[in-house]
Amino acid sequence: MMAAVAAVVVHPDDTVAVIVAPQGGRAGQTLADGTPLAENVPMGHKVALRDLAAGDAIVRYGEVIGRADKAIAKGAWIPEALVRMPPAPDLAAMPRTRRPMPPMPPLEGQTFEGFRNPDGSVGVRNVLAISISVQCVAGVAAHVVERVKRELLPRFPNVDDVVALDHTYGCGVAIDAPGAQVPIRTLRNLARNPNFGGETLILGLGCEKLLPEMLRGDGADAAIVRLQDEAFHGFGAMVEGVMAAALPHLERLNARRRETCPVSDLVVGVQCGGSDALSGITANPAVGFAADLIVRAGGSVMFSEVTEVRDAIHLLVERAASDEVAEALIREMAWYDAYLGRGGADRSANTTPGNKSGGLANIVEKALGSVVKSGSAPIVDVLAPGERIRRKGMIFAATPASDFICGTQQLASGIALQVFTTGRGTPYGLAAAPVVKVATNSNLATRWSDLIDLDAGRIATGQASLEAVGWELYRLILDVASGRKTVAADRLGLHNALALFNPGPVT
Ligand code: CA
Repeated sequence: MMAAVAAVVVHPDDTVAVIVAPQGGRAGQTLADGTPLAENVPMGHKVALRDLAAGDAIVRYGEVIGRADKAIAKGAWIPEALVRMPPAPDLAAMPRTRRPMPPMPPLEGQTFEGFRNPDGSVGVRNVLAISISVQCVAGVAAHVVERVKRELLPRFPNVDDVVALDHTYGCGVAIDAPGAQVPIRTLRNLARNPNFGGETLILGLGCEKLLPEMLRGDGADAAIVRLQDEAFHGFGAMVEGVMAAALPHLERLNARRRETCPVSDLVVGVQCGGSDALSGITANPAVGFAADLIVRAGGSVMFSEVTEVRDAIHLLVERAASDEVAEALIREMAWYDAYLGRGGADRSANTTPGNKSGGLANIVEKALGSVVKSGSAPIVDVLAPGERIRRKGMIFAATPASDFICGTQQLASGIALQVFTTGRGTPYGLAAAPVVKVATNSNLATRWSDLIDLDAGRIATGQASLEAVGWELYRLILDVASGRKTVAADRLGLHNALALFNPGPVT
């Protein structure tokens, strides 16, 4: 007799199983409960566990992810076209009741080797950042970065890197419009990222709308260089001027050393990209497990991606640590609903063709699998886009789900390191912070063995338990944070452009 095809049922109420066998399931094979497959079913896709009539609930994670578009027989494949999407949870009518959450047992004595900053934050890298107040100066900034790498960094061996905080904002925008506060505070807080040691240099032009002074943190005395300064006669003089301004910053950064810091000083961001139906079974729960460990050790984890939590918001409101946090969660969802509405879009615009061929029928199914990255800790704070972290613990930082925008916004909110799960695969990386990439399936981890840092697909194949992979990820995070291990994206030099979230008008 043939062995049952590997499939996962997440919740006892589920009416579907998800095929996790790397080759998919073939017609005639049976699931562990004896259900015979009526047809071939690709990996990551759903199979009906009972006969469903048209309009019946399709249940996964114990939640309704849609309604059957027509009758579906037990054992049949449920492709996206047969799943009618339910409406999003009604924010106005949403119960604000919070679930009593027993305290999580603390994890004592957890440490990593980080760079302690004057403002109390702790970085995992020691990087000179050059912030720009307007895109006009980006070419000069890029030139300076190359010159500093070539000519100055060899003299400052304790400085890991130099990066320009490139962006398209700063001029040609309605600088006083209601949405403008988002990119402005994002840029200001980006310059204060813990990996920059409080030594960010600011490069401006001179006639731009966004004044370079607006990018300085409170009380910071970051040097500002303006290219229209009359002292500069031509390009060569500008470059020399910026490099001279960089020198004292490099000297101070170079004097820093890693020191043993408690994990309570670590801020880790989590996000996903190129998700598939295994995301919610393997990689995201493993990230959630590791996130719980960080929070139990007193540290902070940020999760984001509004369009991917919108359909699971009722599950997050239950976990709010206070009424204020519950209201803030709902407020950020409502703000984004209105923002999408102004653009004539809705939440269904989130899912990609890759998500769908990976087995995710719609945004409801994607969201339920996405929010498990946040583990099980109480949610202690909600940050509007670009706001800086102010409390320790599990935090919702509202950002778009777009990988590079979420990455940029989380950097502004204060992450020192990011964990990124992917099922379809992306070479995504950030220059400012290490990105630990976790594959949801072993097919991807094998095919992209030099691009992926951890294979969570072993959870689906039964080679490793969720707990084992969660602990492995937690230890990997601390190794990367301590500079003991280098992530694939940094080893290969794969770094995406920064991309600010700008909901305001462009002029
Ligand atoms: Ca994303």
